[in-house]
Amino acid sequence: MPSDEVTVIQLCGKCDCEISTFTVKKDNLMLTSREQIWCPKCEEDMPEVRDIAGRVASIRNEVESLPLAEPAQRRQRPPEGPDTQ
Ligand SMILES: [Zn+2]
Repeated sequence: MPSDEVTVIQLCGKCDCEISTFTVKKDNLMLTSREQIWCPKCEEDMPEVRDIAGRVASIRNEVESLPLAEPAQRRQRPPEGPDTQ
């Protein structure tokens, strides 16, 4: 893929599942969409959400590495919390 092109993912605005992807030149990049897209999971037309493929991956990596990178953020919680691990 040429470096001036990005992969855009089209996601369902409701369930977040990936519906399709397409590549577009960065100059023509439009992440805001008012279009509806057919979601096979919801079996309905849903508001389309667009995101950049590489960006999603880098955000995921960031989230996954967060507990290791910032151990100071992990605080002891009272044991009565429902999410106690
Ligand atoms: Zn959906």
